[in-house]
Amino acid sequence: MATAASPFLVPTAAELDAARRQPTAEVRARRARQRRQIQAMVAVSYLLDTGILAMYAHAGIIAATIPFAYAGAGLLSIANYLVLSETGINDRFRDHYLVAPQSAVSMLIMLTFTYNAPEVGVVFLCSLFTVFGFGALRSAPQQTAAIWTVMVLGLAFVFLLTDKPIAVPMDGRLERLATMLVFALNIGRCMFLGIFSSGLSQSLYQSGLKLKEAYRRIEELAELDELTGSFNRGCIMRHLDQEIANARTASKPCSVALIDLDWFKRINDAHGHPVGDEVLRTFAITIFANIRPVDRFGRYGGEEFLLLLPGTEREGAARVLDRLRMIVADLDWSAFSPGMQVTISAGVAELHDNDNADTLLARADGALYSAKAQGRNRIATS
Ligand code: GH3
Ligand code: MG
Ligand code: MG
Repeated sequence: MATAASPFLVPTAAELDAARRQPTAEVRARRARQRRQIQAMVAVSYLLDTGILAMYAHAGIIAATIPFAYAGAGLLSIANYLVLSETGINDRFRDHYLVAPQSAVSMLIMLTFTYNAPEVGVVFLCSLFTVFGFGALRSAPQQTAAIWTVMVLGLAFVFLLTDKPIAVPMDGRLERLATMLVFALNIGRCMFLGIFSSGLSQSLYQSGLKLKEAYRRIEELAELDELTGSFNRGCIMRHLDQEIANARTASKPCSVALIDLDWFKRINDAHGHPVGDEVLRTFAITIFANIRPVDRFGRYGGEEFLLLLPGTEREGAARVLDRLRMIVADLDWSAFSPGMQVTISAGVAELHDNDNADTLLARADGALYSAKAQGRNRIATS
């Protein structure tokens, strides 16, 4: 099925961008390989038509030279294309497949043969559908419209300006078989085209999903603190504003807590900064594991964190924080370093009517200061 490297996919933004820059040797080799694959399919297509023409020639409707001339014209156009492709000339163009010129050449071949062998015009006219379909698959809308216009002009010439008896041969079994094969072959080509188009839409759909997931991840990364996975400062402050607004709207209480690790500088000094980082990470995971889904936890700065407790009064918040304090203090930190102890202090404040984010945080900070002053490993309220 079609993949990102399929020759029938419209170029992606990245591909176009790469095309604008000088393509690398690897990209050029891949493109040349894709062009060879396409030309091999075009060659097979010409040879199948030639087989049908040979049947008509055998039935005596056209000269025996027509199938040879047709195969020769098709294979010559492919050979010319491959020379351009293999010498890297195609790579100089934005559309390195040269879809429009290729379609024009194929159209010219079909119309010339319609003119010269009108008795089997159905073969060439049916092939025009495939030429046009494949051309449209990789062309811009304007290019497709241009190809269609040229095609219509060519048809108008053959149909209206000449009196060629363009025919669908139906006399005798061999002719009927050959004509049936013309339709079967062209319906097969349409099927092929359909399979590639559905591959294309599948692939676009998959790309869309991947893009969505990537955006979600980017947004997530922009919101999260890299070290601890908690919200970063900007994000937790936005949540604070939001929770204040929610509490006002719902007339519900809301409390916040500023949490600070005790003597953290000493931990860094004694065990090294990387161990300090691990302590911060473990602390954050511990908090996440012990708060409600509605609570918001973010890094306020350094080893100081902000916890938002919607719908919680000051006393309830103090109890939550004391529970968290005990959990942190009771963790077995000796895994990081023998004898290591980590404790936290926190300042809790409840939202008042006249509060804004700054005044609320200032009161929580004041409470934290007094928790520290009272000896650390404790919770203070304001
Ligand atoms: P106190 O009990 O008064 O809070 O003492 P403290 O040592 O924790 O206070 P202080 O604010 O003096 O020290 C905080 C330390 O936290 C200093 C800084 O190097 C360290 N720190 C801040 N961010 C990080 C970090 O991301 N990783 C590590 N390992 N250390 C950090
Ligand atoms: Mg500290
Ligand atoms: Mg601090």
